Amino acid sequence: MERTLVILKPCTLQRGLVGEILKRFEQKGLHLTGLKMMQLTDELLDEHYAHLSGRSFFQQVKDSMMATPVIVCCYEGVNAVEVVRSLVGATNGRNALPGTIRGDYSMSSQENVVHASDSVENAQIELARFFNPKEICAWEPIAAPFFYANDEI
Ligand code: ADP
Repeated sequence: MERTLVILKPCTLQRGLVGEILKRFEQKGLHLTGLKMMQLTDELLDEHYAHLSGRSFFQQVKDSMMATPVIVCCYEGVNAVEVVRSLVGATNGRNALPGTIRGDYSMSSQENVVHASDSVENAQIELARFFNPKEICAWEPIAAPFFYANDEI
């Protein structure tokens, strides 16, 4: 099973949308194996958003991510990285399609509710960045046969 990282951003906590967003992933059938609240730091965000370091909004995005604690999640599933990215939608909430999380809950390119890993390789790097391996908890999803056919898992 593939693993991916999701972060519920401070805007999601401030707007009281935590339950709504977790519900989206749960209803889809993604398997939750890691969940914790943590306060992000400038150093951690320098690493996490290194690809944005040359952009004018870099510090602003980091400040926004430190405004409150965030909730980090590890989800597992077949093609979990791609499935989660498609549930999340385009970066700018104003362009994100209705039905996606950002399309339904965001009007902003910065305050866009969630982060989701964009590749299998980055998912592994990001999970290691935000979780201690002991915090990823394997458990048996007994409903798996009702989410997947036998030959899919
Ligand atoms: P994504 O989160 O969709 O993978 P990026 O990796 O390009 O997108 O950007 C990381 C985060 O930086 C975005 O989720 C958003 O919070 C912020 N961001 C991206 N583009 C902009 C922008 N033009 N203005 C303000 N913030 C932005």
